[in-house]
Amino acid sequence: MRILFLGAPGSGKGTQCKKLADKTGLVHLSSGDMLREATAKGTEAGQLAKGFMDKGQLVPDEVLIKMFEEKLSSPECSKGFILDGFPRNIAQARSLDALLEKLRAQLNVVINLQIDDHLLTERIVGRRVCSNKSCNSVYHVTFSPPKQEGRCDLCGSDLYQRSDDKEELVKERLHTYHNLTEPLIDFYDAKLLLRTINAQGQAETIFADILKTLEEKKSPTSK
Ligand code: AMP
Repeated sequence: MRILFLGAPGSGKGTQCKKLADKTGLVHLSSGDMLREATAKGTEAGQLAKGFMDKGQLVPDEVLIKMFEEKLSSPECSKGFILDGFPRNIAQARSLDALLEKLRAQLNVVINLQIDDHLLTERIVGRRVCSNKSCNSVYHVTFSPPKQEGRCDLCGSDLYQRSDDKEELVKERLHTYHNLTEPLIDFYDAKLLLRTINAQGQAETIFADILKTLEEKKSPTSK
């Protein structure tokens, strides 16, 4: 399947996509992770991206489109993928359409994780991420703390707070989301691909809802 996730920063997209990738074996393509990796490696794209990410703004479309063109054309994506964080505006969504057409592929479903704004800041500011790039597990200081403070339960590496998860940047990121990314909800609804899921409960409940939605999508006649 080719699945796209939409949702504000802090809606739990990354966590849910990771769980889904583990369960289905589909490739998880997180634009934020890809950009952070490029930044850490100091590639040309990474250096350009850093300035925008540090301000909570979108990185120029060309950078993302090139990155996803390469990824989606690669053999690892031929059986399907989970898109997380791309597209982030209408221009990117149109480029994705064109790219998929070139690959003779189509999205099967767009899952929109719906959550009230007032919950997002607390979720984002309390988020801690594993520093081991091949683990990348996500915790929350209050809602899902690690067993030992500052250490990943799975691999024992240090946890850190993303620089753009600091409170002063969250407002800007939410503003960017509402202005530029939220219009994608209508864009994909018009294509009859959109399924909205309440993302305010427990991660396990939300994941069960996602699996149910995907099952219904696979066999649309079953109730
Ligand atoms: P995320 O990890 O998805 O919250 O993304 C972190 C940051 O990476 C965002 O605040 C943007 O600066 C940048 N970014 C991620 N995905 C995109 C995208 N599709 N287009 C432009 N910028 C992006």
